[in-house]
Amino acid sequence: MTTSSGIAPPAGLVDCRRCPRLVGHREAIARRGRSGGPYWSRPVPPFGDPAARLLIVGLAPGAEGANRTGRPFTGDAAGEVLYPTLYRFGFAGRPVSTGRDDGLHLSDCVITNAVHCVPPDNRPATEEFAACLPYLAAMVDALPDLRVIVLLGQGAATQFARLLKQRGEIPTLAALPFGHGRVHELPGGLTVIGSYHPSRYNLNTRRLTPAMFDAVFEEVRGRLPPRR
Ligand code: URA
Repeated sequence: MTTSSGIAPPAGLVDCRRCPRLVGHREAIARRGRSGGPYWSRPVPPFGDPAARLLIVGLAPGAEGANRTGRPFTGDAAGEVLYPTLYRFGFAGRPVSTGRDDGLHLSDCVITNAVHCVPPDNRPATEEFAACLPYLAAMVDALPDLRVIVLLGQGAATQFARLLKQRGEIPTLAALPFGHGRVHELPGGLTVIGSYHPSRYNLNTRRLTPAMFDAVFEEVRGRLPPRR
């Protein structure tokens, strides 16, 4: 199992202040301090293994989750589903992620978000998606072994489609339709897999069941046998 202490964030990401609405929001959440402190309350950098073949893209940090802890999907309900799944499929050294200094390692996997700052109502604006796109682009380009991308939810899927369109790899956003378990083989050799987001809402309503989420990672493992 190859492991790593962590991938470097894209240049400029953690100091980014491009989106005034998001800067104001993340700072207001830290001042309010609902979960006690301290809060990260900056753009949340990607987490994982620089040699990853798998990239997982979520929507955006949760207010009291990644925005507080500084690690994607850490401290929120979605992470309580994602990390145990990664552990069972051999991509995480432990089933629980509690914070940036908890010693957790991902293996062969990086987790990031379409938008790196917490948005009001969990809804980034179109211009905020656009402002954050270069950071997703930089992350994709920084992974030389990348083979499979899992897009968690429509927001992540549309953001990734924007990147492919910008690069002339697809003609329109509609050329990468999103669906749970929907697989796209891109001409350059990357495989893109859609998944409903493991949000509390989707799990409570059973739009996404644990078995459905496992099926996505079975598909991933079918394409990425464990490294020796
Ligand atoms: N936490 C994240 O980091 N991203 C999401 O999409 C949801 C929760």
